[in-house]
Amino acid sequence: MRIVLMGPPGAGKGTQAKRLMDQFQMAHLSSGDIFRAEKASGSELGKKLAEYMNAGALVPDEIVVSVMAKAITENRSGGGLLLDGFPRTVPQAQALDEQLAAAGKPLDAVAVITANDEIIVTRITGRWTCGQCGRIYHVTSLPSKTAGVCDDDGAALTQRSDDKEEVVRSRLAAYYKQTEPVIAYYRQRQANVIEVDGMQVPDAVAAQMGQALEELSGK
Ligand code: AMP
Repeated sequence: MRIVLMGPPGAGKGTQAKRLMDQFQMAHLSSGDIFRAEKASGSELGKKLAEYMNAGALVPDEIVVSVMAKAITENRSGGGLLLDGFPRTVPQAQALDEQLAAAGKPLDAVAVITANDEIIVTRITGRWTCGQCGRIYHVTSLPSKTAGVCDDDGAALTQRSDDKEEVVRSRLAAYYKQTEPVIAYYRQRQANVIEVDGMQVPDAVAAQMGQALEELSGK
């Protein structure tokens, strides 16, 4: 299956992506993760990405499309693909459609996780991630057994630099202005758009989304 996973920052895309990968054996390509790795490498591209990311602004389309097109081409998972955080603008969605159509591998579904802004701010500002395995925790709703340390591998938990409240609010504004129109774009193209309420507990979100996707794949 080839799926685009969408939703505002903090809706639970990362958490759900891990579950979907296991359920449907797909490669997970997260534009945010790819950009953070590039940023951490200290490359010229990484420095350019940091200018936008640190401000909570979207990276320009030309840069995003070229980095993600390369990642998609290099994906060797036998076709299963879960795109998370990309596309985030209509021009990005158009570029993705062209690339997938040229490869004869169109999208099967667009899964949208919806969420409430104030809950998002609480969620994101309390979010900590294992620097080693990527497991996500929350200071109040999903704490690790020992503060600051991953339950699975004992590695230190880190907080993303763009998870501060003012940056989160800019990221939300960018989502409503630039990314929500992507959902309308897919609807107009008659794509299979699945919407799930991300304010439910993660298990309920996963069950609902998994079922909708199973139905689609069994069509
Ligand atoms: P994320 O981890 O998906 O929230 O992404 C972190 C940051 O990376 C975003 O706030 C943007 O600055 C940048 N970014 C990630 N994906 C995209 C994209 N598809 N288009 C533009 N900027 C992006």
